[in-house]
Amino acid sequence: MDFDAPEEHALLRDSVRQFFARELPETQIREYDQARKIPREIWKRFAEQGWLGLSIGTEHGGSNADVLTGAVLCEELSRQFPSLAMDWVLLSMTARTFREHGTEAQKAEYLPRLAQGEFIMAFGMTEPSGGTDILGLTTRASHDDDCWTVNGQKLFTTFAGDADAILVLCRTDPIENEKRARGLSLVLTPRQQSGVEVRRLQLMGMRAGGTSEVFFDDAIAPGDALVGERGRGWYTLLSSLDEERILSAAIYVGITAAALDIALQYAKDRAAFGRPIGAYQAVQHPLADVATELTQIRLITEKAAWLLSNGRPCAEEAAMAKLAASETAIRCTDRCMRVLGGYGLVEESPLERLFRDARLGPFSPISNEMVKNFLGERMGLPRSY
Ligand SMILES: Cc1cc2nc3c(=O)[nH]c(=O)nc-3n(C[C@H](O)[C@H](O)[C@H](O)COP(=O)(O)OP(=O)(O)OC[C@H]3O[C@@H](n4cnc5c(N)ncnc54)[C@H](O)[C@@H]3O)c2cc1C
Repeated sequence: MDFDAPEEHALLRDSVRQFFARELPETQIREYDQARKIPREIWKRFAEQGWLGLSIGTEHGGSNADVLTGAVLCEELSRQFPSLAMDWVLLSMTARTFREHGTEAQKAEYLPRLAQGEFIMAFGMTEPSGGTDILGLTTRASHDDDCWTVNGQKLFTTFAGDADAILVLCRTDPIENEKRARGLSLVLTPRQQSGVEVRRLQLMGMRAGGTSEVFFDDAIAPGDALVGERGRGWYTLLSSLDEERILSAAIYVGITAAALDIALQYAKDRAAFGRPIGAYQAVQHPLADVATELTQIRLITEKAAWLLSNGRPCAEEAAMAKLAASETAIRCTDRCMRVLGGYGLVEESPLERLFRDARLGPFSPISNEMVKNFLGERMGLPRSY
């Protein structure tokens, strides 16, 4: 076994930290969080660093990096600005969907623009009726006159307001043999048209991510807008689930690491009764717990990413990483908030933002209850839902 991280990962971590110090300091991040928006220029700057093309092949202007590299980048982004990391995961997953399931023409048209930050895409699956029972979705697309007409509603579509197009999971064909997973397709629907209305949601956490509800009222998509096979959209999505869970886990590793940095510094700087508060066991012990749990979730996340990067099955490890990292981030941001006392609640403290952002983890992109259902089944127990 080799636990030494490759030098490229250390360089990547360093370049992300330098980027934030130079171009996106904490005061700026706070402004974007309060404005609930990440300006589009940021993605151009990301593209210049090569961070948008990680999951894109070199022939289309990307770097063809593995998932482990993606997890390292994601952890570092999240350490600074989790909303940005969440959006980056979305961009990365949409690029991978095109790369693995798009036609040659779609790849040639969209992948270079995605790598350059010139084309931004959202992913619309969840509907008001629920994200867990996603196969109950009711958004439909019909094909006539050489175009697709989309009708329905999506909820919690990250990025929808800024996107050039939304990859919409919708029903294009009837349910086959009572199998709801059949007959769904992914339709790339241009956003800027009268048939698409986007309303930004006022969320408590991940505020700058631009998560919105979207209404499709006879929205038109071109005849060649299907990504992947018609009626097989659900199976197209399944192929990227492990990666999505690993990258999500990396977000919560990043949040936990950042919370520890902040609380540790505070424990050294803040004095009470003539000593730094970090001299008291009641402050030291929770920080030791956070450091231990951080090491655990980083290890399991990196292991899952390593397995996927080496073409090995990793469904359980990816699910466990997402479960462990998201629950740990909740626990650890809470512990760290206690160390900061009243300062933890002040908006100028990045911990206040991390504490709110961590709240997304237990239910997105999949709820931890469903992760446990999946793990139970994998252990040979009957399906529980
Ligand atoms: C900031 C943010 C960004 C998001 N971005 C996107 C995006 O870009 N695209 C997109 O499509 N979606 C997105 N989502 C939606 C997200 O994926 C869903 O919130 C998630 O899938 C959970 O769905 P839900 O909120 O409808 O909860 P529900 O599905 O209503 O679940 C509610 C509760 O019931 C539990 N539950 C349901 N069924 C079972 C069962 N069988 N066994 C045990 N427990 C069960 C769940 O675990 C959960 O605790 C985003 C959400 C947020 C908040």
